[in-house]
Amino acid sequence: MTSAATTPTAANLPKVELHHKDHRNYPHGVAFMDGQYLPMSEAKVSILDWGFLHSDATYDTVHVWEGRFFRLDLHLDRFFRGMERLRMKLQYSRDEIEEILANCVALSGHRAAYVEMICTRGGSPTFSRDPREAENRFIAFAVPFGSVANKEQLEHGLHIGISESVRIPPQSVDPSVKNYHWLDLVKGLFDAYDKGAETALILEANGNIAEGPGFNVFAVTDGKLKTPAFGVLPGITRQTVFDLCGELDLSVTRGDLACNELKNADEVFITSTAGGIMPVTRVDGVAIGDGVVGDITRRLMDLYWKKHSDPSWSTPVLYR
Ligand code: PLP
Repeated sequence: MTSAATTPTAANLPKVELHHKDHRNYPHGVAFMDGQYLPMSEAKVSILDWGFLHSDATYDTVHVWEGRFFRLDLHLDRFFRGMERLRMKLQYSRDEIEEILANCVALSGHRAAYVEMICTRGGSPTFSRDPREAENRFIAFAVPFGSVANKEQLEHGLHIGISESVRIPPQSVDPSVKNYHWLDLVKGLFDAYDKGAETALILEANGNIAEGPGFNVFAVTDGKLKTPAFGVLPGITRQTVFDLCGELDLSVTRGDLACNELKNADEVFITSTAGGIMPVTRVDGVAIGDGVVGDITRRLMDLYWKKHSDPSWSTPVLYR
């Protein structure tokens, strides 16, 4: 029951704190936005930015390992392709963006970093609702490297759960453009946790396996690899697996991957810039193959990390 005394009036409203206090423990890192480099704790976006209000944004994430960007060109290609598909434009050229990313890493001092570049729709200077009038905003940051799988999971494999409650429809939010529309992925993650799994796989519109929250997936059967073709982000790590398979003379295809095909595979692994190639040894509580990390997965993981020092696959960061 509301009494007159508890009804807010101008006189009894709690005092508004005009100086924003934020007690979160931000990761050490450096961000770039609106023309300046800032510590992570100070890099904040207006709540009126359509990137925040409408998830109207695209982004890409590249990692730095032992002081070198890994496959930066492929990440920049995808970032620019995404902006073109979403009809966004930045005032920075590709070379300038490359320089900003390198500066964020160099200023942070991180030799192993997770580096994100973001383009939000921004907003219109006159607050018009017309997206053609918006000034798009570029943000970048470098924080310590993080992985989907922890040390123990990298050693023994992840337990993944297939979410039955969501589908990724390519006709609505195009999953091939890297985006922040993560509600399906997060719902899938909660479904997987409810099953006792550690992470999730989401299905595409036809009920085949698509991808997970921040990663692609591969199944290995009789020595041959397969990864979903539809309803997925074309991951750079996924592309890297294709390239590594070429070097190792392994057969790899993109195609429909049914749930049973995945569960009956000899080996399963997931791929992401956040962690590389990561083994999966259980799906929905059932062991994959012998329930241990498979030989092909291990060979790919080893070669993947070796490639990080290869100058044709990586670019050094110039630390000052
Ligand atoms: N799928 C989704 C939805 C992602 O967000 C990501 C990366 O964050 C991936 C797949 C893997 O892509 P990449 O290998 O380029 O990191």
